[in-house]
Amino acid sequence: MAQRQITDFNGLVMFRRDYRERDMLVKFFTDQFGKKMFFIRGARKRGFKLAAALLPFTQGTYVGNIHEEGLSFINAAKEYHQFQSISTDIGLNAYATYILNLIDVAFTDNQPLPRWYQQAVLSVQLIDDGFDPEIITNINEIQLLAAFGVAPYLESCVICHRSDLPLDYSESYGGLLCQKHFHLDPYRFHASARAIYLLRQFSVLNLSKLTSISVKQATKDELRRIIDRIYSDTVGLSLKSKHFIDDMKNWDHLLKP
Ligand SMILES: [Zn+2]
Repeated sequence: MAQRQITDFNGLVMFRRDYRERDMLVKFFTDQFGKKMFFIRGARKRGFKLAAALLPFTQGTYVGNIHEEGLSFINAAKEYHQFQSISTDIGLNAYATYILNLIDVAFTDNQPLPRWYQQAVLSVQLIDDGFDPEIITNINEIQLLAAFGVAPYLESCVICHRSDLPLDYSESYGGLLCQKHFHLDPYRFHASARAIYLLRQFSVLNLSKLTSISVKQATKDELRRIIDRIYSDTVGLSLKSKHFIDDMKNWDHLLKP
């Protein structure tokens, strides 16, 4: 028989989906149990008492009937709050949605992921507080590569381990090459020193220690191209939530005078 327990847990709503006529499935990222799908009976009925506690981008303390596998249930919400800027700004919403989507596909459900729970909540909090959503996204993308089975070596040159010479990214070597070894890969990224520097910083950065960050748009655009290339060539991932961000950037260009 499947293990189950009624318990308090902290959680963040990752996404929701209508289910049958009146019900809903809500995927939560929980602090202790990892990602879990909850069945919410009657969630779409008018006057449903937990409606506000289950809105997208809501984090709180809930009481639930946790099943080890399959669907779990929520009995009550103790305290909760919704991230307001993200909920009302389509741009911020798009980045936060993509980050949670990426974390969702990187790991299996029902597996405790305390480090990633903290990181997901922090990422959403930082974006809600006005930190650059593109950078918060890049940091997560780089740090999630290991979960996708791609752990690029970004400490120094993969061949000689020097880090005092100019460095560039090589997909075929799975990491950085120094100037002396550039000749080994004609398809190296030819990335700027600034972009490589940030890539290395992002791979080890602790989000809880982030106090401010400011990156020039040209460097952000370059980072976007580099990370897109790594994801499409090495991870092979194509998410709707990411396409939405790409489309959104195109609208920006179209709307600019
Ligand atoms: Zn080298």
